[in-house]
Amino acid sequence: DSLFASVELAPRDPILGLNEQYGADKRGNKVNLGVGVYYDDQGRIPLLEAVRRAEIKRVEAAAARGYLPIDGIAGYNKGAQTLLLGQDSPLVAEGRVLTAQALGGTGALKIGADFLKQLLPDSKVAISDPSWENHRALFERAGFEVVAYPYYDAATHGVNIEGMLAFLRQLPARTIVVLHACCHNPTGVDPSFEQWKQIAQVFQEKQLVPFMDIAYQGFGAGLEEDAAVVRLFAGLGLDMLISSSFSKSFSLYGERVGALTMISGDRDESTRVLSQLKRVIRTNYSNPPTHGGTVVSMVLNTPELYQLWTQELATMRDRIRAMRDQLVDKLKAHGVKQDFEFVRKQRGMFSYSGLSAAQVDRLREEHGVYAIASGRICVAALNSGNIDYVAEAIAKVL
Ligand code: PMP
Repeated sequence: DSLFASVELAPRDPILGLNEQYGADKRGNKVNLGVGVYYDDQGRIPLLEAVRRAEIKRVEAAAARGYLPIDGIAGYNKGAQTLLLGQDSPLVAEGRVLTAQALGGTGALKIGADFLKQLLPDSKVAISDPSWENHRALFERAGFEVVAYPYYDAATHGVNIEGMLAFLRQLPARTIVVLHACCHNPTGVDPSFEQWKQIAQVFQEKQLVPFMDIAYQGFGAGLEEDAAVVRLFAGLGLDMLISSSFSKSFSLYGERVGALTMISGDRDESTRVLSQLKRVIRTNYSNPPTHGGTVVSMVLNTPELYQLWTQELATMRDRIRAMRDQLVDKLKAHGVKQDFEFVRKQRGMFSYSGLSAAQVDRLREEHGVYAIASGRICVAALNSGNIDYVAEAIAKVL
């Protein structure tokens, strides 16, 4: 027998499968709302001007490409901390915050998971129901049992806050709970700040371990506003992990730009934690790549570029909001009686549209509009050229 004879074919990634089907579709008016990427009004993935300028500077500097430190670029990590905790964070001043550059948000979650498996080998991980589809797989791969806490309430298009709190309250101490700090993927539905305070209180009382995932900072209400939940938990003195992704906010998906930040009890703890985290990194991929991290670091640490970047981020955020508004308005204009006002209130790139799997099938088959079976659509893939068509198609399948 050959060595690999017993290897079974792994199940296909459902979203990639949808993309392949979209690619093969011959219809000229097809629209892919199944993606998890921001497109501009021309339907392109933007190259941000702040990024372009940083890249030009970097190329002109003709810097050598030696190895980075295991935990990455110091200025990058500092920048990531500032985005999360603000300019003058006392926690940073006290040495309680440590950050390692990571291979995207996924890489940050993975090194965090590996670190936690050593620290809390018997803990379970709780993720939201529903959640980003890779959360469960990633934590299971790291050896954890994964459970799901109630989150989305389809009836109200809101958060099932009572169900969520009740579930969290019965978890054993030191259960790791993954929270989407803003712009929940896939629903687009976030708890209100008042609800977050209730959630944080349960974390304190029950000694739960927050693992915040922030992959869309800047796409909700703004860079500072979207970090409010991180700052709330940190301000309460909760030790925590935070995975940051800059894939969307810098439109640098392929550069794998992310960071893992941990907030510990004191400076000495941070030193020890970082030393262990570096071991995890060293045995996985040794050290992170240079290009994306350098570019992000340049943008975060150069005032003119930072200013430009925040403007470009605001443009992306505003465009998504405009698409939400237009979708709701156009559905109404097409005579749809069902209430879609909730789409305006959702945050970030995604919307749980409320469409059933059968309606999603009809959208695809009859109109060439591709969405996820759950009804998730990527609002950031709508643009002035396709939104009329999409609204009309949705109206027809309702
Ligand atoms: N967390 C969430 C909630 C996400 O939606 C994503 C990406 N879509 C990630 C993490 C991973 O981000 P990255 O591409 O930077 O690995």
